[in-house]
Amino acid sequence: MSDTPATPSPSRQADIVVAGAGYVGLVTAVAIKQAAPELDILLVDAAPDGVWERDTRASAIAAAAIRMLTHLGTWEAIREEAEPIREMIVTDSKTGDPVRPVFLTFGGEAEPGEPFAHMVPNVALNGALRQRAAELGVAIRAGAPVTGIAERPAAIAVELGQETVEARLLVAADGVRSKIRDMAGIRTVHTDYGQSGIVVTVHHERPHGGRAEEHFLPAGPFAILPLKGNRSSLVWTEPTAEAERLLRADEMVFELELEQRFGLKLGRLTVEGRPRAFPLGLTLARDFVKPRIALAGDAAHGIHPIAGQGLNLGFKDAAALAEVVVDAARLGRDIGALDTLELYQRWRRFDTVQMGVTTDVLNRLFSNDNGLLRTVRSFGLSLVDRAPFAKRHFIAQASGLSGGASPRLLRGEAI
Ligand SMILES: Cc1cc2nc3c(=O)[nH]c(=O)nc-3n(C[C@H](O)[C@H](O)[C@H](O)COP(=O)(O)OP(=O)(O)OC[C@H]3O[C@@H](n4cnc5c(N)ncnc54)[C@H](O)[C@@H]3O)c2cc1C
Repeated sequence: MSDTPATPSPSRQADIVVAGAGYVGLVTAVAIKQAAPELDILLVDAAPDGVWERDTRASAIAAAAIRMLTHLGTWEAIREEAEPIREMIVTDSKTGDPVRPVFLTFGGEAEPGEPFAHMVPNVALNGALRQRAAELGVAIRAGAPVTGIAERPAAIAVELGQETVEARLLVAADGVRSKIRDMAGIRTVHTDYGQSGIVVTVHHERPHGGRAEEHFLPAGPFAILPLKGNRSSLVWTEPTAEAERLLRADEMVFELELEQRFGLKLGRLTVEGRPRAFPLGLTLARDFVKPRIALAGDAAHGIHPIAGQGLNLGFKDAAALAEVVVDAARLGRDIGALDTLELYQRWRRFDTVQMGVTTDVLNRLFSNDNGLLRTVRSFGLSLVDRAPFAKRHFIAQASGLSGGASPRLLRGEAI
């Protein structure tokens, strides 16, 4: 008989292990802990400590998510760094066109005095959430990837290298290439767009006036998003081979290609830091939950950034999951049982698939140079531009304030 027990005893126990200290994992942990301080939460991340501080990107955060961040006591720390998006314009033209006719303009308020979105540097968002997690007593363990999972009676064993933590619930917020999703045997529907999003920050001579621009070019959308000062964050879609060529190109060639798309309306452009490219695709998990496991954020759905909604969908997951878990804990129910987690799945799956399909259709409709489609697009955009009701609908969508029953946190309310 072997001395090694068949079921090694856990080195630690926790109520919840959250895997992934990206925004979704952080918000989920903070939201649950703020409402139910008695729950013991361990937050683990594969990346070594300090990697998050090197992220130079920024994200468009919708008004609903800001209501939640305010309620979670983090928005005050982020606000200084955030730039409100006051207006948005949409154009549809060819790359070298000297003038890009504007087909659609939005004035950007969700409610009077509440911009529909803000641009926030990722470091500011991540830093504020980490600070709040520390205040609430949520331990974050860096350099600790989940390497295996196993079912236990009424628990899940989460392997972190040599250590095993036994928990009642594992939240997999480990990104679009989620290993935990694979370990749990959850399959996905995946489409590779063959496109990459080049993300780069530029400084320009003249102020942007809080204006966001989306230029539909034949290779895909080219988005200009306002940052603090005379700076903008760009998300520039190209076929992957072309994106790689641009990143390898000489600095001057890159800047010339950039100028051709951006134009000179804001004066001379200077690239800040190194541009990076991210492969784009649509990945939808077939199930969001299994007994004792819930997927959240990109682990459940990776979508095209054409509408700047990926992270906002993830925030909705975090808010809905936190509400379901906290309600279950208060009622004395098992927080990791399948019937509890199915409430979360039912709440989030339809909205997610709807957004995934919408971004997929938009990308296919706009990332091409087909003459007929171009005419139909221009006609459609100008119709929307003349319809105040349609515009209000778009603003409500972009604010994250429409689309089914909203979790309480996204209305700025306590759970
Ligand atoms: C080019 C581009 C532009 C975008 N712009 C916007 C935008 O403007 N607005 C918006 O809303 N969204 C935007 N998005 C989408 C947004 O970036 C993602 O939806 C968001 O980052 C997902 O957050 P997450 O926490 O789910 O995953 P991630 O941010 O990917 O975090 C996953 C975390 O899990 C950790 N991890 C991985 N494996 C393990 C493991 N085995 N164990 C433990 N930890 C693990 C990783 O280290 C990481 O910290 C954009 C995306 C792209 C590609």
